[in-house]
Amino acid sequence: MSLRWRMRGLHAKFVLLAGATLLLMLVVVLLLLQRQRSMQEEVVARSGEAMHQLVFERLRERGEAVAAQVSDTLVNPLYYFDLDAIGVIARNLLRQPDVRYVLVYDNNGNILHDGSGDIPTYGQAMRDPLAYEAVSASGVHAQWTERVLDISSPIRLGEQRLGGVRIGYSLDAVHADETRAASALGESLEALGTRHFLGIGIAFAALVALAAFASLLVQRTLVRPIRELAGVAQEIEAGNFQASVAPSGRNDELGELTRAFGRMADSIARHDREIRRMAYTDALTGLANRLAFRESLDQRLMQLRGAGRELALLFADIDDFKRVNDTLGHDAGDEVLVQFANRIRTAVERYGDAEDTLLARFGGDEFVILLQGGPHDVRGMATGLAETLVEELARPLVVQGRQVFLGTSIGVTLFPEDAAGATALMKNCDIAMYQAKVAGKNCYRFYSRAMDQAVERSVRMEQDLRGAWGRGELSLVYQPIYRLGDGRLVGAEALLRWNHPEQGSIAPAVFIDVAEQSGLIETIGPEVLRTACNDAMRWHRDFPGGEGLFVSVNVSPRQLRSGELPAQVAATLRESGLPAAQLHLELTETAVLGDEVHASALLSRLRNTGVKVWLDDFGTGFSGLSHLRRVPADGVKIDRSFISDVLRDPDDLALTTAIISMAHSLGITVVAEGVEKEGQYAILRERGCDLAQGYWIGHPVRYEEFVSLLA
Ligand code: C2E
Ligand code: MG
Ligand code: MG
Repeated sequence: MSLRWRMRGLHAKFVLLAGATLLLMLVVVLLLLQRQRSMQEEVVARSGEAMHQLVFERLRERGEAVAAQVSDTLVNPLYYFDLDAIGVIARNLLRQPDVRYVLVYDNNGNILHDGSGDIPTYGQAMRDPLAYEAVSASGVHAQWTERVLDISSPIRLGEQRLGGVRIGYSLDAVHADETRAASALGESLEALGTRHFLGIGIAFAALVALAAFASLLVQRTLVRPIRELAGVAQEIEAGNFQASVAPSGRNDELGELTRAFGRMADSIARHDREIRRMAYTDALTGLANRLAFRESLDQRLMQLRGAGRELALLFADIDDFKRVNDTLGHDAGDEVLVQFANRIRTAVERYGDAEDTLLARFGGDEFVILLQGGPHDVRGMATGLAETLVEELARPLVVQGRQVFLGTSIGVTLFPEDAAGATALMKNCDIAMYQAKVAGKNCYRFYSRAMDQAVERSVRMEQDLRGAWGRGELSLVYQPIYRLGDGRLVGAEALLRWNHPEQGSIAPAVFIDVAEQSGLIETIGPEVLRTACNDAMRWHRDFPGGEGLFVSVNVSPRQLRSGELPAQVAATLRESGLPAAQLHLELTETAVLGDEVHASALLSRLRNTGVKVWLDDFGTGFSGLSHLRRVPADGVKIDRSFISDVLRDPDDLALTTAIISMAHSLGITVVAEGVEKEGQYAILRERGCDLAQGYWIGHPVRYEEFVSLLA
C-alpha cells in the first residue's frame, strides 16, 4: 500500500466519519420530527375530546335547567289541557338557538304538542329510539345520539304525573365548534412545528457546514503537510537527498514533526555527501582514490580528444613496500604511505596547479599522477617530475624513530602518443612501472611498444613453464656448503635450473618470480623437494663420503602460505627414507615475517618433524637482529650483499659479526653465502661463522659432478 494512498485514506476516513455522524444526526432529527408530529396529533385529539366534554356538559346543564323550568311552567296548561298555552311555551323554546325539537306528551307517551301550528303528530306515540327512556325516567333525564342531546322531564302536579316534555338540542354547533377549535389548535401547532423544523434545519445545516470546514481544516493542516512530508520522504528514498521540506512556522506537533523531518533530511544529505566524499577519497592519505581518478581521467580524455592537448600518466610504486609492513608493522606502513603521499604532493605541485594535475592513491603502495601538457612539452614535464620523485622518495624516512630507506619505481605513459583510452593508458603505465622494477628498481621508465613484448615474454614464459617439470626441462644443481672450522663438506643447497628447449639454461632469478606469481611454484616446489631428498638419500647410500650430508631446499613464500608444507615434508621424508635432520628448508626472512603468528606455528610444526629451518637472505629485511629471538629457526644465511663487502665496508663487517654473535647466543647456526674471495672466507672463519658457500669454494653443479666431489 503506497504512502500516498494511505494519506488519501486519512482524509477519506475523516470525511467518512463526519458523513456518518451527520447521517446519524439526520436520522435522529427525522425521528424527533416524526415524534413531534404524532404528539401534535395526540394533542389535537385529546384537546378535542376535552373541549367536547366541556361544551357538551354545559349544554346538558343548560338543557336540564331549561327542562326543569319548562316542566314547571307546563303543569297548569297541561292540567287544564290548554293546547294554546302549551303551544306558546313550546314555540318559545323552539326559538332558542340549537333547539331542534320540543315534544310535550301525556302520561302514555303520546304527543300532545310539538310546537307547530297544526300539530300533525298529535296523538301519535313517540317511536324514536330515545322515547322509551324519556317516558319512563322519573326525573330530569339526559340521553344523546350522534346529532342530538335529548333532555326530558316529567310534568307533575303534586304526586300526580301529568305527562312530560322532551327538548332536543342539536349537537351540530357543538361539533362545529369542536372542529373549528381543533383546526385552530392544529394550525398553531403546525406553525410551531414548522418553526421547530426550521430551527433544526438551520442547526443541521450549520453542522454540515462545520463538518465541511473541519474536513477542509484537516485537509489543509494535517493531510496536506503529511502528504508533502511523504513526498519528500519518497524522493529521499529514490536517492534525491537534496529534496527538502519547506520550513514550518507552526507551533504544534506537526510543526515539530516537520522541523524534525527537515533536520533528518539535512542529516541524511550530509551523510550522503560524506559517504560520497569517502567513496572518492583515500582515507589514509586524503588523496583521490582509484574510482575518483578513473572518473576524472575519463572526463579529461573526453575534453582533450581532438583538442591537440597532451597528457602524461605516471605510476609510482614503492619498492619492496611489503617489507615495511611485514617487518615494522602496518602502522609504520601507513606512516610511510602518508609521508610518501606528502612528498609526492609537494613534488607534483611544482608541475602545475590542481587544474592541470591529478594525484591519487590506488590502494596499497601505488600512486598515480596525471600531468596536463599545456604550453610546455608534456614529455619534458613528465621526465622532470619522474626524476624529482625518484630523488625525493629515495631520501630516508623516519618512521617510529627508525630510518627507513625505500625506493620508488615509476612508469610513465603519454596521451595521445601511447594510447587514446584510459584503460590502455593505465595498462601501459603499469607495464612501464614493472619494467622500472625489472631494471633494478628506484628508477623511472617511459612506456614503449617494446615493453609490450617484455610482458608478452613473461606471459609466454608462464605458458612454457607449465608442464616443464613433466617434460624434464627442470632440474636441480647442487652448491656445496662447507664448514669453515675444518673446511669439510657438510651439505649442499639445491638450486633449480630450467633448460628451455629454445633459450637454453635459464636461472631461477628469471623464472621463479613468474612461477611464484602464477602459482606454478605450488606444483614445482614439491617436485624439487622430492628430487632433492631422493638425491641426498643416494649420496648417503652410494658414496662413502656422502653419509651425513644435508640437502638444503628453497621454499617459496607461497608454498609456506598454503599451509600444506609440513604434511608434504613429512610425506617426502617417509618416501625417500632421508633422516629428517638431513633436510634443511630455506625460507626468506620476509616470507616468515609476513604473518608472524601463522608462520611461527608452521615453523614449529616443521621443526617438530626434525627438519632444520634456515632463514635465507638474512639481513635484507627490516627485522633487525632482535627478531631472531621470536622466530623459531635453526640457522640464518647471511645475504651475499653483506658478504661481498665485508672486506671493504667496516659497517658490513660489523653487521656480519653482530649477526654471528647474536645467532650463537641463541644457539643458531650461521651460514655465509656468496663467498667469492679467499679473504672473505678467512675473515668469516676468524669471526666464528659456521658454514659457507660461494663460487670461491664451489659453484652449483649437476648431481653427477657433485658426487664426484664426495670421493
Ligand atoms: P638463494 O637461495 O639465495 O640461492 C643462492 C643464489 O646465489 C643462487 O642463485 C646461487 O647460484 C648464487 N650464488 C652462490 N654462490 C654465489 C657467489 O659466490 N656469488 C654470487 N654472485 N652468487 C652466488 P640462483 O641459483 O640463481 O638462485 C637464485 C634464487 O632463486 C635463490 O636464491 C633462491 O631464492 C631461488 N631459488 C633457486 N632454486 C629454487 C627452488 O628450487 N625453489 C625456490 N622456491 N626458489 C629457488
Ligand atoms: Mg637459498
Ligand atoms: Mg640466499
